[in-house]
Amino acid sequence: MNRRVFLGTAGSLASVGTLAYATREPTVTLEIRVWLSEHAASYGGVTDRIQEYLERIFDLEHWSLAVSSGGAVDVSTENGAAVTSGGEWPAALASGAIGRRDLSPVSDVNLLVTDGQMEAAPTGYGIPHIASVGGAKHIAALDSFDDLFSSPEADADRWIVPNGRPSRTIQILTHEVGHALGLQHDHGVAYRYGDAIVASPMLSSYAWSSDYDDDGSRCGTNYPDPADLDRKLSLAFSPCARRELAEYSGGFLP
Ligand SMILES: [Zn+2]
Repeated sequence: MNRRVFLGTAGSLASVGTLAYATREPTVTLEIRVWLSEHAASYGGVTDRIQEYLERIFDLEHWSLAVSSGGAVDVSTENGAAVTSGGEWPAALASGAIGRRDLSPVSDVNLLVTDGQMEAAPTGYGIPHIASVGGAKHIAALDSFDDLFSSPEADADRWIVPNGRPSRTIQILTHEVGHALGLQHDHGVAYRYGDAIVASPMLSSYAWSSDYDDDGSRCGTNYPDPADLDRKLSLAFSPCARRELAEYSGGFLP
């Protein structure tokens, strides 16, 4: 069977997270490198926790994954969005790429995590191959990937977690990495699950925001009315996000 047909038919939401993909020889190594601002680096265990989550969430059959740490980097702002949207983080990576700065970008995703606030949007920013996000202190408080699903409100098969600050922060981090790989907000889905509405990473809290007015996702699903439903988060990409990632064709370094 054609692989895209397979994904289209088998990649239903119910099977996200447990789906055994048809295997093929990985021909591409996807590289994600994570840097911390000096403030973010002052919390313990942040890089290890981020690497652990990225290694699970981006462990897709389209590539073999290489997640690495770039260490601490000196930046002038902890604002997780402005450090990229204002040009500082892209400029630092460009300087590193030409050897002017002791900083080695990778081809695919260069993620900077800062100590920026996560209460008011924007909290992060992602452009092709470059992303940043705040929330280091919430990552420091985040349970291990497997422990996160031990909560009675979580669902380990579907990678659904309660909408708490640490889990929301790692979902937004995942969202920005998704942007760096070419995903857009309408690659995100929201769906009813029991008494809750669940939002996937690219939709995230837009699922319950009145500012977001797209009617439906690229997956062909409508966005349900959040009404008074409980709000939960999924760390699994939607089927159409996965199909888009399968089309990802490589990075910006030679
Ligand atoms: Zn976004």
